[in-house]
Amino acid sequence: MTTAIRAAGWRGVIEAYSDLIGLPAGCRPVTLYEGGTPLVPAPGLAKAAGLDVDVRLKLEALNPTGSFKDRGMTVAVSAAIHSGAKLIVCASTGNTAASAAAFAARAGIACAVVVPEGKVALGKMAQARAYGARIVIIHGNFDQALTAVRAIADTGAAALVNSVNPWRIQGQMTAAFEIVDELGSAPDWLVLPVGNAGNITAYWKGFREYDAHLGQAGTQTRPGLPRMAGFQASGAAPIVRGQAVPNPETVATAIRIGNPASWRQAVDAATDSNGFIDEVTDEEILAAYSLLASTEGVFAEPASCASVAGMLKMARQGRLRPGDRVVLVLTGNGLKDPETAVSVSAGGAVECEADVASVSRAMGL
Ligand SMILES: *Cc1c(COP(=O)(O)O)cnc(C)c1O
Repeated sequence: MTTAIRAAGWRGVIEAYSDLIGLPAGCRPVTLYEGGTPLVPAPGLAKAAGLDVDVRLKLEALNPTGSFKDRGMTVAVSAAIHSGAKLIVCASTGNTAASAAAFAARAGIACAVVVPEGKVALGKMAQARAYGARIVIIHGNFDQALTAVRAIADTGAAALVNSVNPWRIQGQMTAAFEIVDELGSAPDWLVLPVGNAGNITAYWKGFREYDAHLGQAGTQTRPGLPRMAGFQASGAAPIVRGQAVPNPETVATAIRIGNPASWRQAVDAATDSNGFIDEVTDEEILAAYSLLASTEGVFAEPASCASVAGMLKMARQGRLRPGDRVVLVLTGNGLKDPETAVSVSAGGAVECEADVASVSRAMGL
């Protein structure tokens, strides 16, 4: 199905998978042609893991606003417009705000985003501003921001587009569909960061529904299901600890969440898939961040690198077997967080005079 669509030109996830997303008839898509992201082999990471495994990177940074949030946002904003919304709102660690602001601009409606003070990566704030959202910075964390916007949306004043909105999950399932379409079956492992836990919920729902759908169609052998491996940052690992974290802290600001809204669904995804949810430290995340960029040429934001650090941890723990197909979801673009990039690679530049001899010397020639 999608092969024909790709040949004709990709026009976003709603067109590609409308039957599985299930928007009401007559709902007009608000789209930036999101989705359709590549699944890139990562032999250098397999080598770093010391294993003969087939590692692929799902490059969600290639979505229009630079993160996977666009897959869910196109659907949530389309549905909101269909039901007459004039304002959309969200709480955000940054990427939801950038995405909501972009799709609101596209649709021509207002958008207000609520973000925690001082903990949103610079590029994400720049995006939300450029797209014209009203930005509310609270003296508090993400979990408090979400509580506030949920209460405001409950009054009927605005449509909430966080991942507690079921349309977000419907849209984000499409990443699982794409992986199956490309590999011809489900991978052995799907590895991803876990913050508010909407994405792990969406992937698991997507793999299950696509397996059932293709089974019904009877046109090919069923793709099967992957095992789900979710990783939280150690300073923001409520699911791993089994209790909410009042003051979550991590360099991976996109997953700096102490009380995930889709906690139960995340645990179900891990349990039902025979997978797990574990943690990686900030040190492991930043080591993975540098390794990914320097060995594969892929620049992902710190939260995304929890996938890479997680895969390396799985290798150390003997969880991966030779020949396993492992998909790492790289959720967002490294360019969004220039401050982390600069602080991690401090010392990567030298200065010199402008003459040829000096430049040559500075190059180490
Ligand atoms: C939102 C986000 C996550 C976490 O996804 P959840 O659905 O909240 O678990 C991870 N990485 C990036 C880059 C994100 O923007």
